[in-house]
Amino acid sequence: MENLIILGAGPAGLTAALYAARANLSPLVITGNSVGGQIATTDIVENFPGFPEPIGGMELAERMKQQAERFGARFEFDEAIEVNFRQHPFQIRTYGAEHEAKAVIVATGATPRRLNVPGEQEFWGRGVSVCATCDGFFFTDKEVVVVGGGDSAFQEGLFLTRYARRVTIIHRREQFRAQPILQERARHNPKIGFITETVVTSILGEGRVQAVRLRNVKTEEERELPTDGVFIFIGYEPNTALFRGQLELDEAGYIRVNERLHASVPGVFAAGEVHDRWFRQAITSAGFGAMAAMEAEKFLAELEHRRIPTAVAPR
Ligand code: NAP
Repeated sequence: MENLIILGAGPAGLTAALYAARANLSPLVITGNSVGGQIATTDIVENFPGFPEPIGGMELAERMKQQAERFGARFEFDEAIEVNFRQHPFQIRTYGAEHEAKAVIVATGATPRRLNVPGEQEFWGRGVSVCATCDGFFFTDKEVVVVGGGDSAFQEGLFLTRYARRVTIIHRREQFRAQPILQERARHNPKIGFITETVVTSILGEGRVQAVRLRNVKTEEERELPTDGVFIFIGYEPNTALFRGQLELDEAGYIRVNERLHASVPGVFAAGEVHDRWFRQAITSAGFGAMAAMEAEKFLAELEHRRIPTAVAPR
């Protein structure tokens, strides 16, 4: 029987692990696909306080993990495939084990959204990517397009200029939503070009990506743009499929929580991008992780003094 299981090992899960470990809860972290989550696919992090020099995303995640381990957090490199929050203790099944826990923090994060156009699936991982850090190198001296107009598109687009000959940012509106500092850097980078008010309608090629088909949303004019690669940064979907029918989700699929990060079942908490669609920063997710761990600790302390609260599954 575990005191606390933390699902996910991004900044939220890792910080929850640190706080819970320091509260002597000996939490078990079920990491999912990777330690670090999205931060592990970020080349450099420049806005995490305490690191005046840029730090690699993977290194930051590894340091967070080590810090949590130092105080007794345990890590299981497996994926939760089924949960039962309808009874207490809660049950969690992974590919390799079955666990019971008195409290759970869900920190499963979010996954990059796809374009859902012809060619995307066909060339996935072979010219179509959602990770510049992972795949940028393959585009040394090549031309790539980046789809999206937010911080990710600009940050990753700038990163890709280290390798690619030319990076064209394609955005569906005229205004970008990326931070001004990133927009300014991109505008001053001679390798970056922009195509606005335009959407990608298909990805074309024979055996490899050779072009994208574009449609101007104002004029409806269509054309082909030759390219060697397509990087997609158009936002995220919360990883909550596992919790459907178990926890209350909002209309976009994010876990509904109260102001203290309690989900709809007493003893289950949510932290990070799985519940937060607004801030989505490593530091805000880390903050949510700390908050969730503090609340889990209170819940467990109360459990010792009174009967187990009745777990009520949402409709
Ligand atoms: P985002 O802010 O949600 O931006 C997504 C972009 O993709 C928007 O420009 C959106 O267009 C466009 N888009 C959405 N669906 C589309 C579709 N089907 N086809 C074409 N374009 C589509 O996502 P993000 O840039 O990944 O950022 C997510 C969060 O992480 C943000 O809060 C961001 O601040 C944060 N972040 C921060 C940093 C940093 O601090 N350095 C770096 C990366 C991310 P519209 O503008 O028209 O909606």
